[in-house]
Amino acid sequence: MDRRTFLGSVAAGVLPLRLSSQVADSNEWGGAVIDCHHHLRRTPEANIAHLDGSGVRHALVLARDNSAESIAAIQAQYPGRILGWLASTDITKPEAEDLLTKAAKAGAIGFGELKSHVAAAGPELRRVYALAAELGVPVLVHFQEVPHTPTEGVFATGFKDFEAVLKAYPKTQFVGHADAFWANISADYANESAYPTGKIKPGGITDKLLGDYPNLFADLSANSGNNALSRDPAFTADFLKRHESKLIFGSDCACSDGKGGGVSQANNPAAARLAGKCVARETLTLLRNMLTPASFRRVTWENAHKVYKLSAA
Ligand SMILES: [Zn+2]
Ligand SMILES: [Zn+2]
Repeated sequence: MDRRTFLGSVAAGVLPLRLSSQVADSNEWGGAVIDCHHHLRRTPEANIAHLDGSGVRHALVLARDNSAESIAAIQAQYPGRILGWLASTDITKPEAEDLLTKAAKAGAIGFGELKSHVAAAGPELRRVYALAAELGVPVLVHFQEVPHTPTEGVFATGFKDFEAVLKAYPKTQFVGHADAFWANISADYANESAYPTGKIKPGGITDKLLGDYPNLFADLSANSGNNALSRDPAFTADFLKRHESKLIFGSDCACSDGKGGGVSQANNPAAARLAGKCVARETLTLLRNMLTPASFRRVTWENAHKVYKLSAA
């Protein structure tokens, strides 16, 4: 288009005034952001496409225990974009500890996400909590008490009693995530639905544990995190203030382009509110609207560097 048509389009509001937002850069959100819940995708390009599309410069990648080479390949092809990775494995297998130890030696900076059909305080996870303390790496745990589909099952159950685990493993850095972690932000949650809505009753277990235990942090990703921060804005404002040193931005978004294309929430019917949307964009917009620039930077950048000990601070 020629210059006149272009200016006419701008005046008519047809074109975005901030053309730079079409090019992914760290400035779209006012500074560098790291997505700490980015699942490894099929190709290096697919990972970068989601980051670029959502205007996010950096990622902490969640991958399998044997992913060191895949991660290194992306880091070589796209320097500076992937600041680290977490290793997950089937923790019900006897060799789980060996595999996770090997992953840590190969460069994994934490374990997760740990998503298995076991109890949060059961022996399978306990040995991983102990190993994480020994190796000095955090663990990211998926807590879910309500299945999304008839065959899905539940994961790391018993979050309501998680205080005993936090006490038993004071040297383990826990990062809580998913449905039960976030639903328990409200004191009246009784495992009745995956994503409760409506006003939050103060005094929820998650709120209390974040306040009382220096070894517990919160991953804001997925519909679970976004829903918890969206359902009661007045509560959220104070919650963000209380825990801004404990909250870590992540998306857990599966959309293809960082703009909601493809499938963003794995066809999870309970998470339909985010269908067609990019979770990274939705949650970053919410945080930007509710936080001061300094607090936004803490939640989207600094806390991750502290907890996951990222080097490129
Ligand atoms: Zn998860
Ligand atoms: Zn997305």
